[in-house]
Amino acid sequence: MSGDKRLMKKRLFLLDIDGTVCIGQRLIGGTRKFLEAIRDLGGQFVFITNNSTRSIDDYILSFQKLGIMTDHTNFITASFATVQYLKKHYDGKLIYVLGTKSFLRELKKNHIRVTIDCMDPDIACVLVSYDNQLNYEKLEDTCRILSTREVDYLATNQDYVCPIEFGYVPDCGAICEMIGHAVKKAPKYMGKPGTAMVEYALKLNHFSREETLIVGDRLYTDILCGHKSGVDTALVLTGEATREEGEACEYGPDYIFSSVEELYQEWSGEMPLPTGSADM
Ligand SMILES: [Mg+2]
Repeated sequence: MSGDKRLMKKRLFLLDIDGTVCIGQRLIGGTRKFLEAIRDLGGQFVFITNNSTRSIDDYILSFQKLGIMTDHTNFITASFATVQYLKKHYDGKLIYVLGTKSFLRELKKNHIRVTIDCMDPDIACVLVSYDNQLNYEKLEDTCRILSTREVDYLATNQDYVCPIEFGYVPDCGAICEMIGHAVKKAPKYMGKPGTAMVEYALKLNHFSREETLIVGDRLYTDILCGHKSGVDTALVLTGEATREEGEACEYGPDYIFSSVEELYQEWSGEMPLPTGSADM
């Protein structure tokens, strides 16, 4: 064990989900033990995820099925960050939304004024989200507003693709690229690599920036987010990025681990388990 003192002092862990602690519905080895150890040492873990298709209640339930007990304090999603941002900057104003019906419901539940009528004269802002109910009419309506009016333009997350059983499908960032070709405008993104979720996590949990570590598998979202928010980062190689990409990256991570299992061992100073051990 290297006994990296800076790493051992970490107490607040901001964890990505897909490719970091889970692959599909499967938990990545070492995750449960790592999360238990964080709690045992008086620390906290918060999942910060760009995935805006699932609610926090859904996440709590799916982690429960994997044997991990969590509550609302353990999650900050890009939708949550978006709602907070809209409340602060667009209080009472009308938001045109390109997104799923459930996303619209969530916004309404949070007292955000929303419309899907592109002709409404009161629109103050366009908001784009991942939308698996996307159709050409929605794209055209969004382009109409962005081309003909001076309104603000927001999007939940910059991810280009979203993992699915057979591979990937286009995510919010790809939808915005498509619109961008037509209107020559780019949105302000709420999720990672934007720093809103990290700032909320720091505000809601009483740990310093130095005691915090962002853990993720993607360079252009997770690791860049840490770089922008002044929080140390650990890249895990169980998802998208490779060690070579991590090492070559200009805003490269502070640490690179094969998985959360190795991160756990380095952080806790625990010796690796014998190979073939069935620890989860
Ligand atoms: Mg990921």
